Amino acid sequence: MTTSPHFIDLRSDTVTRPTPGMRRAMAEAEVGDDVFGDDPTVIALEQRVASLLGKEAALFVPSGTMGNFLGLASTSERGDEVILDRNCHIMNYEVSSAAALHGLQLNALDGDRGMLTAAQIEPHIKKESLHTPGTRIVAMENTHNRCGGRVYPLDEMKRVSALARKHGVSVHLDGARLCNAHVASGVPLVEYAACADTVSMCFSKGLGAPVGSALVSRRDVIDRARRLRKRLGGGMRQVGILAAAALYALDNHIGRMREDHDHALQLASHLEKMPGVSLTFPVETNIVVATVDARHWTVEAILGALRDRGVLAVAFGADRIRMVTHLDVSSDDIERAGEVLSSLAATHAG
Ligand SMILES: *Cc1c(COP(=O)(O)O)cnc(C)c1O
Repeated sequence: MTTSPHFIDLRSDTVTRPTPGMRRAMAEAEVGDDVFGDDPTVIALEQRVASLLGKEAALFVPSGTMGNFLGLASTSERGDEVILDRNCHIMNYEVSSAAALHGLQLNALDGDRGMLTAAQIEPHIKKESLHTPGTRIVAMENTHNRCGGRVYPLDEMKRVSALARKHGVSVHLDGARLCNAHVASGVPLVEYAACADTVSMCFSKGLGAPVGSALVSRRDVIDRARRLRKRLGGGMRQVGILAAAALYALDNHIGRMREDHDHALQLASHLEKMPGVSLTFPVETNIVVATVDARHWTVEAILGALRDRGVLAVAFGADRIRMVTHLDVSSDDIERAGEVLSSLAATHAG
């Protein structure tokens, strides 16, 4: 697909390109062989993320998918069970890595807009026996991608965490967009992270780095994850060049997410006015999901009409479209996208 710069690219917050300042930081990064533990920029990033989330240690990984996998695999044995929401990223977009590579059984429950409550989870927690798998991990996702960037309420996360601790079950937090949750709710990152034993977060989403995620946890868990990362072929050498981009993003791109959230609300208000289009979820952060009524439009027709007018979005299931705001989308772009949506609404109403 064409992605020339004049397209307003709302397909995902992964499409951002490094800013000039970020590229400078990358070019100037001090590097070494990280598999030997010699890369000072990677070490600085791992320490920085660990302290940002109030944990002992962190591991820089190539992707959020690997971060989630290592979080699960480092705290479980083959045959263990993981309780999670049916719509979560681990369940839908990670090529069954937990099952395929580590033999985990995923027990997917129906969350309320991606949120499992402690009360809902409790009856599903199983003790290992001659017959049953043991529940070893409960996983949460904040913000929740498929449920429209929903912020997991801190109180419920605390209840889930307390329940898990009571049963000796570990908690994994898929915090690919945890900074978006933090900016939207004002909850400090450490408070979210305190609800979990392992946390993954992405630098390559709204933070705007080209590549990379981190897994954060206790020292012994991270030591195990480091070994498993090597087994997966994820040991990287002079990767300080990428760690520098992530450090730059943490220094410069967290606070500005507020703009992305405002932009998402603006897009939502235009979408709401279109005949046959309704918001699937309330907009809380940078993701907008809309349901398309088949009597008015097809998803393909809307996406095609938008593309013809310079706006890119994606299908999100059979009757939904998704738009995501990020740091390569300016206020002018949002205004233009709004005009495009209004003009589509007008032609369609006619
Ligand atoms: C993007 C994303 C990930 C990780 O994706 P990668 O493409 O592997 O970096 C994990 N969880 C959620 C919720 C995501 O949106």
